Amino acid sequence: MKAKKIDISLMPSRLMRTARKVKISDILDGSLTNVKDMYYKFNAKISGIDNNNGPWYHACKKCYRRVTVIESAAISCDYCSGEDIDYEERYRLKFDVTTEEQSLSITLFDAAQFVFGCDVKEYVCSTSVKKEDSGYYRKLVLSKGKEFSILVKIDRNFATGDSKMNLIAPEIHEVEKLIAAYESDVETLIKKTKDQEDQEG
Ligand SMILES: [Zn+2]
Repeated sequence: MKAKKIDISLMPSRLMRTARKVKISDILDGSLTNVKDMYYKFNAKISGIDNNNGPWYHACKKCYRRVTVIESAAISCDYCSGEDIDYEERYRLKFDVTTEEQSLSITLFDAAQFVFGCDVKEYVCSTSVKKEDSGYYRKLVLSKGKEFSILVKIDRNFATGDSKMNLIAPEIHEVEKLIAAYESDVETLIKKTKDQEDQEG
């Protein structure tokens, strides 16, 4: 039997499920910073995709900073000593998210796989010829205007102010998909119970 591919976009982690739900306004006013290293989640619509540089980059394997890859040349990192360092593709996807006329920016690193449903290598491969032909790329484009549940970490050093806020989101899930998945689970459960009753009945 072929193993069913697990769709991580439908599987919120325990952290995600148990995080306190807040509003963007709670984040912006700085009232959450009194507690150290806390995770919060909020719902918001994606209002903008900063896709100028694409949702991934070549990262130094040691420090994750961007490196320039030139074919058939040794790659060096400005921050790590030594030429010819190891590098890898890494997701970096920036969204503007909006609710109640308030907005902030979020950056997704590994969490971008919750949007695409694939790891960065698969994404890079699927978009290598023509990105418009990639189903994953289309998923990204279509995510605009959709509501997501977004997990963020807010610690004591978190700065609030006039400058546009940018938070790193370690996890993100499309709300409608989560509800649909939950409902289909419930339906399956109801059907199972009904079948059982019919058999017993
Ligand atoms: Zn480095």
